[in-house]
Amino acid sequence: MTDYPHMLSPLDLGFTTLKNRVLMGSMHTNLEERGDWNAVAEFYATRARGGVGLMVTGGMAPNREGGVFPGAEGLYTDADIANHRIVTDRVHDAGGKICMQILHAGRYAYGPECVAPSPIKSPISPFPPKELDEDGIEKQIADIVTAAVRSREAGYDGVEVMGSEGYFLNQFLVTHTNKRTDRWGGSYENRMRLPLEVVRRVRAAVGPDYIVIYRLSMIDLVPDGSTFDEVVQLAQAVEAAGATILNTGIGWHEARVPTIATSVPRAGFAWVTRKLMGKVGIPVITSNRINTPDVAEQVLAEGCADMVSMARPFLADPDFVAKAEAGRADLIAPCIACNQACLDHTFSGKVSSCLVNPKAAFETSLVVEKAATAKSVAVVGAGPAGLSAAITAAERGHKVVLFDKADQIGGQLNMAKVVPGKEEFHGLVDWFAAMLAERGVELRLGAAAGVDDLTGFDEVIVATGVNPRDPEIAGQDHPSVVGYVDVLRGGAEVGKRVAVIGAGGIGFDVSEYLVTGDSPTLDVAAWRREWGVADPAEARAGLAPEGPQPDPAARQVVMFQRKAEKPGKRLGKTTGWIHRAALKMKGVEMRAGVNYERIDDAGLHVSYGEARERPEVVAVDTVVLCAGQVSERSLADALEAAGVSCHVIGGADVAAELDAKRAIDQGVRLAAGL
Ligand code: NAP
Ligand code: SF4
Repeated sequence: MTDYPHMLSPLDLGFTTLKNRVLMGSMHTNLEERGDWNAVAEFYATRARGGVGLMVTGGMAPNREGGVFPGAEGLYTDADIANHRIVTDRVHDAGGKICMQILHAGRYAYGPECVAPSPIKSPISPFPPKELDEDGIEKQIADIVTAAVRSREAGYDGVEVMGSEGYFLNQFLVTHTNKRTDRWGGSYENRMRLPLEVVRRVRAAVGPDYIVIYRLSMIDLVPDGSTFDEVVQLAQAVEAAGATILNTGIGWHEARVPTIATSVPRAGFAWVTRKLMGKVGIPVITSNRINTPDVAEQVLAEGCADMVSMARPFLADPDFVAKAEAGRADLIAPCIACNQACLDHTFSGKVSSCLVNPKAAFETSLVVEKAATAKSVAVVGAGPAGLSAAITAAERGHKVVLFDKADQIGGQLNMAKVVPGKEEFHGLVDWFAAMLAERGVELRLGAAAGVDDLTGFDEVIVATGVNPRDPEIAGQDHPSVVGYVDVLRGGAEVGKRVAVIGAGGIGFDVSEYLVTGDSPTLDVAAWRREWGVADPAEARAGLAPEGPQPDPAARQVVMFQRKAEKPGKRLGKTTGWIHRAALKMKGVEMRAGVNYERIDDAGLHVSYGEARERPEVVAVDTVVLCAGQVSERSLADALEAAGVSCHVIGGADVAAELDAKRAIDQGVRLAAGL
């Protein structure tokens, strides 16, 4: 008997059956643009072997003007079919099923050729779109249909028509972007015409025995978006036009509400999809922030959907379904929804991978194989770098001993997990613990390892991490001054008026910790209030008329940095705005370009600019130092002095701009080659 009877039950689509209720949602890896179709095929085949019921590819453009960026991959000509055939053959050999997503970006296309229903520039693109005329619209439909036909010739099991997230089809649906007065604009019947024509003509062209998924925006989260009655009307019309499955889209890309970040509650939008259940006859898929089998099972058991879509969780662990089936959900590497190695990479033109699993999208180049000779390996430091090195070395058959002076594993991850909105880090530490046990790594916790403990090992890996940087501010020994470690680990007492010195990742985390009471991430209703997400049946597009209503800040916080640039500028590309907005909503002030003059009973004394102008005393009860970090190298230096060779990784190697992504990547890559 499985713990996941709903998630693991098959889904009969009439002409074909999916082996379970799990869809791997569309993700753009950037591998296609590099032309390495073997890597693309292996990426999907690895996930097919892991047991997922159905996969959807990253978005494929139907024509040049519809590509997300110039040069975006697509099925532009018959010649492209052969490349896709490599993928579909490999997936089918692995026992999987795969649909190709057709993505026309409309005004979101990042190039001068972009087209849209009306010539209104999007706030997230510098390119004003060209308004399509009747012939232009017919061409777009014809190109989408041709792409669908080519997908069938390429051996796919179906297509997903991307109709949500504010892309081309979505742009026709709402007056926010469609100001037309012809038969493609005006009334809702007219605005629906394009998506419905697309589905109808795609179905006619591909025949009855081909999966057609329509991704429908259930809650636009932008002004003048769809009402819920319109969403239901569209869903029913899309079904009548021939769709096999309805997938859920949440929020346009330009929405100012987070929809997939780690601070969004788990399954935080399943309630939206549930509102459509019973209103259509075809299966409905829900999505967003579903990242464990327990959450997936609960969403299905509660009747929120017929199937769940998870995308990033399949970067973190391609064997998600197989491990759930085997009753080993504890071994599933969790997606912590950080976006650091996936979406942040996608939008920087890099290959998307995963912070937790650096092998993702590198299946052909980062291969962890059994070592020819088993060695004894000592790893010192049970933070992300050391943990990753230890479990990877053990996977290769080495005998691994992991030391840490703390009495628990996790290192800096244990600080992240107490920050409101970063609760996913609990799961990451738990996963590392499960993997250490599974791989038979010997743990020696609670005592610092010295040179004597480490002689006799074939390999020594030093992952001793970092220490807080001393900012050398006059008066920093004043009793009002504490370090971030004292706050996040030690529960140091912090007053009601606080100055945070340093506005890097940790300064932001500490500020969030200090202003937030109960974490809204653990309470969907509170989170919706915080960001102004209403029931779309009561407020158009799900935007609460009263706007965001955050709880009052628990403290008054002012953040400082010496650089004159905008604080938070270097936070994650796709998540930095969320951290900045969250703190702004709590009234956190941010000051850049400061000099720290001194700290005394009156508070923090600062001045501004090179000329030390505008001297100011900021009256605070507590000053928290978050001034960056320096490498902890004492063990590495002692080993070197004793003539014991070692590998130094993570923060002990380079402290600047250290994050868990770099630490884990370095740990895995080192151990893969030992
Ligand atoms: P960081 O991002 O490098 O920030 C250090 C902060 O300290 C900066 O604001 C810096 O600004 C200030 N600083 C540096 N030297 C100073 C000095 N001598 N005196 C006073 N202030 C000084 O480091 P972090 O905040 O410790 O974070 C460590 C790493 O973890 C970073 O790479 C960070 O991205 C990562 N992290 C990421 C997240 C996330 O949300 N993605 C969260 C936590 C941590 P000025 O030099 O301009 O004053
Ligand atoms: Fe999830 Fe972060 Fe990995 Fe992306 S990088 S898949 S968000 S854990």
